[in-house]
Amino acid sequence: MISTISTIPFLDLNAAQDEVAADLEKAFHRTLRSGWFILGRECQEFETEFARYCGAKHCIGVGNGLEALHLILRAAGIGPGDEVIVPSNTYIATWLAVSYAGATPVPVEPDLRTFNINPTLIERAITPRTKAVLGVHLYGRVADMTALNSICKAHKIMLFEDAAQAHGSRLNGVRTGALGLAAGFSFYPGKNLGALGDAGAVTTNSDDLAEKIRILRNYGSRKKYFNELQGFNSRLDEIQAAFLRAKLPKLDEWNARRTRLASRYSESLTGLPEIEIPEPGLAGEHTWHLYVIRSNRRTQLVEFLNSQGVNTLIHYPVPPHRSGAYSEAAHSNQALPLADSLADTVLSLPIGPHLTDAQHLVVIEAIQNWAKRKN
Ligand SMILES: *Cc1c(COP(=O)(O)O)cnc(C)c1O
Repeated sequence: MISTISTIPFLDLNAAQDEVAADLEKAFHRTLRSGWFILGRECQEFETEFARYCGAKHCIGVGNGLEALHLILRAAGIGPGDEVIVPSNTYIATWLAVSYAGATPVPVEPDLRTFNINPTLIERAITPRTKAVLGVHLYGRVADMTALNSICKAHKIMLFEDAAQAHGSRLNGVRTGALGLAAGFSFYPGKNLGALGDAGAVTTNSDDLAEKIRILRNYGSRKKYFNELQGFNSRLDEIQAAFLRAKLPKLDEWNARRTRLASRYSESLTGLPEIEIPEPGLAGEHTWHLYVIRSNRRTQLVEFLNSQGVNTLIHYPVPPHRSGAYSEAAHSNQALPLADSLADTVLSLPIGPHLTDAQHLVVIEAIQNWAKRKN
């Protein structure tokens, strides 16, 4: 008899949509009937609701997370000749936003306990051209914004957040989106708060940046056909804003479920040979966009988990400085051994809010069995 192993998906998006299906359908019909699809009431209402959620003064809906970051840098006047410090260990969008603004991304290595940029390495990367630090709350864990803030203050440079993986994470009670001068969010479907397509937003407490980004996202105009700046077309669609409004009320509950799953992973996987679990008990909150372990025998582990029907992913197999996109840039020759080593060892386990307890147990037992069998 063939044993049937049921597959455990990395992320069950259908289950998330099912949980709010009625509200999504209402949102769809409301938008359809409104006959208004770009920059209308849904976008405005979502901006108000998301700004309130983050505890920020302004929210500006944009086309996606990359554009959110790009428009922040443009609005801040960053351009050719400027340098922006970014983590060496991040999704490439962080770097691309800097490049799109015409500036140069300057990578700084992570603290291996947090996977986030290491504040103690930042000062030596600062030059007279440095205009800003673009910190990333990678995998959902808040970057060390306290340290980053004091360094940026001391050197009179700006501090921005790439919050694309950390909707709702807090540091001393303050949510991401309100921890720097401005923050870029992505609502790509697989993020902790995801639309049903591409979507993004900027949050900021700065009236000046908010106003500039509002103009930049809409062809550089405040008033139709009067273009004061060479702007972009990067707007949050009404339909996506309406869907996001249906899902935002669930975000805290879904993050809490992720946190519960993460605790159970950490309790069950601690002390296993060849497996390193995320460091617990650090200052910033973690909303577990990803639960990332490390193993020097990742290939074998992935194969074994596959054979048990457990889907995993790698975030990310190629660090930005090793990618073709940056092969011509100076940093492709720069030694970034920590980013390289993370790319070779990290593995993301399923942790979506709709992972069932039974599925979770299968993942845990599979890893425990692998560790026993192989060591
Ligand atoms: C997803 C992501 C982005 C980009 O968001 P998009 O909506 O896909 O453009 C930027 N930075 C990080 C860290 C991300 O994870």
